[in-house]
Amino acid sequence: MADNYTHTIDGKAESSEQSFDIINPATGEPFAKCPDASRGQLDRAVAAARKAFGPWSRKSFAERREAIANFAHGVAARIDQIGPVLTREQGKPLGQAKWEIGAACHELEAMCKIELKNEIIRNDGKHRVELVYHPLGVVAAITPWNFPIILAAHKIAHGLYAGNTMVLKPSPYTPLATLLMGEVARDTLPPGVLNTVAGGNALGGWMTEHPGVDRVSFTGSVATGKRVMASASGTLKRVTLELGGNDPAIVLDDANLDEITPNLFRGAFLNAGQICMAVKRIYAPDNLYEPLVQGLTKLAAAHRVGDGMDPDTEMGPLQNKMQFDKVMDVIEDTKKHKVRITTGGHRLNRPGYFIAPTVVADATDDMRIVAEEQFGPVLPILRYSDLDDAVRRANDTRFGLAASVWTEDYERGAAVAKRIEAGTVWVNHHVGSEADMPFGGFKESGLGREIGSLGLASYMEPQVIKVPLRG
Ligand code: NAD
Repeated sequence: MADNYTHTIDGKAESSEQSFDIINPATGEPFAKCPDASRGQLDRAVAAARKAFGPWSRKSFAERREAIANFAHGVAARIDQIGPVLTREQGKPLGQAKWEIGAACHELEAMCKIELKNEIIRNDGKHRVELVYHPLGVVAAITPWNFPIILAAHKIAHGLYAGNTMVLKPSPYTPLATLLMGEVARDTLPPGVLNTVAGGNALGGWMTEHPGVDRVSFTGSVATGKRVMASASGTLKRVTLELGGNDPAIVLDDANLDEITPNLFRGAFLNAGQICMAVKRIYAPDNLYEPLVQGLTKLAAAHRVGDGMDPDTEMGPLQNKMQFDKVMDVIEDTKKHKVRITTGGHRLNRPGYFIAPTVVADATDDMRIVAEEQFGPVLPILRYSDLDDAVRRANDTRFGLAASVWTEDYERGAAVAKRIEAGTVWVNHHVGSEADMPFGGFKESGLGREIGSLGLASYMEPQVIKVPLRG
């Protein structure tokens, strides 16, 4: 079993006295060991980040952009090594694992092209008032298990570009590819600028309460996000929370099903549905309801599910046993209602955490599959007769991460989009992030924004300077 993975602390490799097993979700068996960082190791990582902060924060944006680009190139050069590790620990097909790493490298560079300029907000002959931005200090970055690399890249890009230094902790389910990214940091960034430490949930708690940390960037579940916010309040750390979603897709009565059905399918089933901003419930109008159910059923039934290392695989397993059990439980609950499960509805008869892509027709608002974030390959389709009613039902949730509207009339779609309570609403698209588009949630889907100019600003402290002018 591979056990050569190490933390990166102050630019150097470190192992730990304790370690834990990493399970391959395609087999349910452990395949590697991961070092489990102690509290002392975290203290040293934070101290290294603090020491590196002074010189790193004094570099220009251009210098930091160049260093981050070198780091991105270093990660890209190791895509053939990191890709299979990501597939084994996460479950996603190898092509999608490599896509994730490639996209992360692209975003690392593209996000550092954004500018946040100091500005003169008043110059009236009596005073000059300047708005300037300062980096915050040490960032604790915590990521989940669904997209470990690209979500880390978003935090690294703006966290470091803004002049901060970082301690990054991946999920204990998927730490290995992130530790390999940390190895690249040893060769490409000054020591202490990017530290990567692996461990259990307790390590996350130590990070968010740590007095040496100034800013927390957290991506994960709503429940943990609330704990993070409480814990960070001890020293009033700046916090962004990127949390769960229960994204609605509203299909309008003029939509072209031939065009949109494959995109809707992808938006719901990519990464086995384990995407914060996946389509989690579809509202379809009476006139398109049955053809849409049939179209999605056909795609789901033909979708090839298997081990991500098999080149024919289009969808891998659920990432861990707990998530598998949760999704199976929601499927069993759904079966108790008057619904049509038009395809799937069962696990695959093989080891590992595989669930057949599942389409649920005749779903209604009160069912768990509609009201909860299922985070798996199960898609409920709800019927509507009145668009206002569909918008009201789409908004009737404590979540508000993303949403989509599907129509031939793009401006009509944009008008409906503005009525949906979600941080991102696409017209005729769903899922994805772009370097200039701030991302985050309404309501309990999060706090603050990452990516884009708002994301960069969230890693800095604004300061106002008022200077009297001599007449
Ligand atoms: P999770 O909340 O269980 O864990 C996320 C991270 O938090 C892990 O690294 C974990 O070790 C750490 N953690 C756990 N307890 C902690 C604590 N008390 N203090 C600090 N850190 C702690 O989430 P998950 O199950 O890994 O991920 C799935 C969830 O993440 C879903 O709800 C999904 O929607 C959400 N998510 C959101 C986004 C987004 O951008 N909004 C992106 C991806 C995933």
